[in-house]
Amino acid sequence: MSNSNWSAESWKEKPVLQDVVYENKEHLNKVLKKLECLPPMVTPTEIEDLRTQLKEAALGKRFLLQGGDCAELFDYCSQSPIESKLKVLLQMSLVLIWGARTPVVRIARMAGQYAKPRSKPTEMHEGKEIPSYRGDNVNGFDPEDRQPDPDRLLSAYFHSAATLNYVRAILDSGFADLHKPQAWNLDHVRSGDTRKEYQAIVDRLTEAMDFMHTIGADSVPSLSHVNLFTSHEGLLLDYESSLTRQIASPATGEKKWYNTGAHFLWIGDRTRQPDGGHVEYMKGIENPVGVKVGPSTNPDDLPIILDAINPSKEVGKVTLITRYGAGNVEKLLPAHIEAVRKSGHTPVWVCDPMHGNTKSAIGGIKTRHFADIMEELTSCFKVHQSVGSKLNGVHFELTGDSVTECVGGSMDLKPSDLSSNYQTHCDPRLNYEQSLDVAFLIAQYYEE
Ligand code: PEP
Ligand code: MN
Repeated sequence: MSNSNWSAESWKEKPVLQDVVYENKEHLNKVLKKLECLPPMVTPTEIEDLRTQLKEAALGKRFLLQGGDCAELFDYCSQSPIESKLKVLLQMSLVLIWGARTPVVRIARMAGQYAKPRSKPTEMHEGKEIPSYRGDNVNGFDPEDRQPDPDRLLSAYFHSAATLNYVRAILDSGFADLHKPQAWNLDHVRSGDTRKEYQAIVDRLTEAMDFMHTIGADSVPSLSHVNLFTSHEGLLLDYESSLTRQIASPATGEKKWYNTGAHFLWIGDRTRQPDGGHVEYMKGIENPVGVKVGPSTNPDDLPIILDAINPSKEVGKVTLITRYGAGNVEKLLPAHIEAVRKSGHTPVWVCDPMHGNTKSAIGGIKTRHFADIMEELTSCFKVHQSVGSKLNGVHFELTGDSVTECVGGSMDLKPSDLSSNYQTHCDPRLNYEQSLDVAFLIAQYYEE
């Protein structure tokens, strides 16, 4: 590797944006020492498996579905929220497999998605300036609890491990089997025509699955056992490097560096500077890496970032997650695709139709409109196709519960409905019904 100067801590030599400043450094170091001794949550074999699947995605032979909360809370580490999130991800992936006629690789924003970058380090609360909420592994949402506390990093590890433990347990116990499409309830779909269209998809899916069952094809491991990988934004580099271990690669036996806290990590829109600490950290790990790409991404920076993280130009090692805002896709995406094509890299191209479409609603709360989300997605499909490229996946902020955070969808949520069950501490998420809507609409797009 050309990274001879890289170490799990070489990022410290670079500027680190969105850094968290702890008052008690001794306390922080004690916590990091403890984290360094805790066992890996994920293994090199799993990480390499995801890398292979993402290679297939980059080549258009697989479709990536990545989704979960904007900010996972420690409180979501509980049976019901975990089950409902898995259920929605599995149901969506089934619709997508059927629609796109390709296997799906599923990555949850889960079991570690605790740290948040913020546009401002402080906010006003009752006339006082207080530190912004930075995610459960940094400080508390309660305005009285905004001082960064190193012990929260340890809590993050244990909540991640407990979440992942339950995810693994239920997937191994046939949870995927429990969610047969014929049992899906489409009562929320207000328009009769739309409900009929969705029902037609469900009927054909059911038929396809019945057929597989009849011929015994559903006993193959890929159907009875679903794979689900974990991911989070690799924002807190102290935490990430304490979970970075040198382990023998399953393929060659050669020792390599793996981040053992999640299968997949991504760099956010605010921390992807080519010469910054986050890019430096990602250079040395074997895990597949995502990079958010937004309106402020200079096309010239993309080859630099890709060469830095993936000097051997391995297909699918990097996932580029574009998040422009519905009206900006046609303007910005072609130049980004062109810059990447010229660089000789083959990334996984993913559309995040959430982060460029945040709006403020009644009472100053944040919302997103379902129509904007669909417009960004549709534009991404079209622009890729028009320049001979291909959209390889989608990235959503979603939850399996019936929250009211985004406007629209087949249940036709109005801005005045938002206050009825607005839960998020960070960005607005698609609820269960809206998430299924998106999957159905993507399936329909493939049909046309
Ligand atoms: C996020 O994914 O929650 C996020 C902060 O996204 P971005 O970095 O694209 O703004
Ligand atoms: Mn977000």
